Amino acid sequence: MIIVKTREEIELMRESALIVSKTLGMLATEVKPGVTTLQLDKLAEEFIRDHGAVPGFLGLYDFPNTLCMSPNEQVVHGIPNNTPLKEGDIISIDCGAIKNEFYGDHAYTFPVGEVSPEVDRLLKITKESLYVGIAELKVGKRVGDVGYAIQKFTEEAGYGVVRELVGHGLGRKMHEDPEMPNYGRRGRGKKLIEGMVVAIEPMTNMGTQRIKQLRDGWTILTADGKPSAHFEHDVAIIDGKPEILSTFKYIYQALGIESDEEDAFRQELLAV
Ligand code: MG
Ligand code: MG
Repeated sequence: MIIVKTREEIELMRESALIVSKTLGMLATEVKPGVTTLQLDKLAEEFIRDHGAVPGFLGLYDFPNTLCMSPNEQVVHGIPNNTPLKEGDIISIDCGAIKNEFYGDHAYTFPVGEVSPEVDRLLKITKESLYVGIAELKVGKRVGDVGYAIQKFTEEAGYGVVRELVGHGLGRKMHEDPEMPNYGRRGRGKKLIEGMVVAIEPMTNMGTQRIKQLRDGWTILTADGKPSAHFEHDVAIIDGKPEILSTFKYIYQALGIESDEEDAFRQELLAV
């Protein structure tokens, strides 16, 4: 059952989402060759608590840390460790926070120093597919329309769409109805309704869509060892249209990157 949120609840969820956004912004300049994912995890936990929130992943389903840290061929759910990042790596950082009882949950894949043009394209396409999917989040459409749009865009770019892991409803629970797959068929699945809040999170593999899991019971990695990227936003449906509650702007500010992707997205929606 989809748990619809009131406007007031959605504003509380925006607060939770923005704590995650700021955490990722803080981490942006800390991601560099030589740093370990465990060091970044500690920074994130401190930052979240300093902002009056609680890490959302820590202890959830017994996950041991604040961040899911998934470098290179790891898709999602990687556990922070003492291996230093190195030049040319990519690192997917997925972060959750709870404030006022509500979860924020989103993710960004960072390049570590300079990455190859092939990997850079994987990051760009995966992030773009996120917005392609969000644009479908309108009253009158269905879950399958979102997945279809992401899948079509991703596969046309030559990449694999992970099937086993999906986006989800978000609220007082980290995973609520409905599941939001990154693949699907037009006009199929549950109807999208006013006041729903979802996490949209394409997980895109450079090679095969197939995945495997490490014996740690958490880490998901690509079956062929090629890199995988992951971007996630928290989105509410307000006045029939998608409203992105999270933002990557703190990341771009920290890194001195000019990006109007979220504003451009809003303009595009207004034009429709
Ligand atoms: Mg997430
Ligand atoms: Mg999520």
